[in-house]
Amino acid sequence: MSSIGVVNFSSEPGSVEIREIEKPIIGEDDVLLEVANVGVCGSDLHQWTSDHSWPVNYPVVLGHEFGGHIAALGKRVSGWKEGDRVVSETAAIIDLNSPLTRQGLYNLDPTRKGFGYGVNGAMTRFVKVPARCLHAVPENLPFEQACLTEPCSVAYNAVVMNSKIKPGDRVIVLGPGTIGILCAAVARLCGAEVAVVGLEADRERLNIAKQYGCEGIVGDASAWANKQDGLGVDCVIDAAGASATLKIALQLVRPNGHITKVGWGPQPLNFSLDPLVQKNVTLQGSFSHNWPIWEKVLSLLASGTLDVKPIIGGVWELKDWHEAFDQMHSGKVVKSVLKPS
Ligand SMILES: [Zn+2]
Repeated sequence: MSSIGVVNFSSEPGSVEIREIEKPIIGEDDVLLEVANVGVCGSDLHQWTSDHSWPVNYPVVLGHEFGGHIAALGKRVSGWKEGDRVVSETAAIIDLNSPLTRQGLYNLDPTRKGFGYGVNGAMTRFVKVPARCLHAVPENLPFEQACLTEPCSVAYNAVVMNSKIKPGDRVIVLGPGTIGILCAAVARLCGAEVAVVGLEADRERLNIAKQYGCEGIVGDASAWANKQDGLGVDCVIDAAGASATLKIALQLVRPNGHITKVGWGPQPLNFSLDPLVQKNVTLQGSFSHNWPIWEKVLSLLASGTLDVKPIIGGVWELKDWHEAFDQMHSGKVVKSVLKPS
């Protein structure tokens, strides 16, 4: 039996099309997950336009933000049953014996391979998922929202685990994409005063940031950064997806402050990092997420403490992937969601 999937087939820009996909054969430790919803990620768009900076195993089914029902179980899988509502983490292949895996940081193991670039992802009806990736989705949380556990976990890792935000801190987030807005929302939950900064074309998306109690700023944010005591903000979260914004982060951060970089950008820097030294600033990268983060985020989503409804710009059928990608690529919507079945 086959079904359609959104396939990225080469490194040429625009190499994404609908193809027939065979139903995956699961191993003893896997489940077959029938996808209810899958979010479109900025990284799916980057693979589509081919301005990504990670190795892709072509051809590959896109999509790593997904949830659905368990349709079949491998014979060594315990603790789950057919029909269970689940979301899946993204680390499809990990080295169980890696020192990083043994300390729970399998997300940082260099051999990790994720859905949607390393192995087939979820923009199709069925996906093979190792049972260790699964988390139960509470009954009251619809899949359209639950499939965004992944980007929320990226934001939680960047803001809660990798930044040192305290109530009353002032935080600037650069870039009003999904990750930027979710970082801003999580920083609000940490008790910070937050501004999200974007370009003229980002006005719509900045309005969505306002729904999370954030300031939305087009262009120069130095006035907001210096409003309190003229020294800059406690923390800048760079979620812009371009290298050049690190320069802006260094301008806006206060001495002894913190910059967390969660946005990727393949371009080399062409400026001096001397302000980092002079201001005694901490520059922190943040990548992916692990099991405890997913559990915390699912609690926040189920209780409504973290609400992803404002960022969902629409739900499209798989065959309409192009429109869903386009709407997000042009900045008209923050997050597009697909519905395979
Ligand atoms: Zn993603």
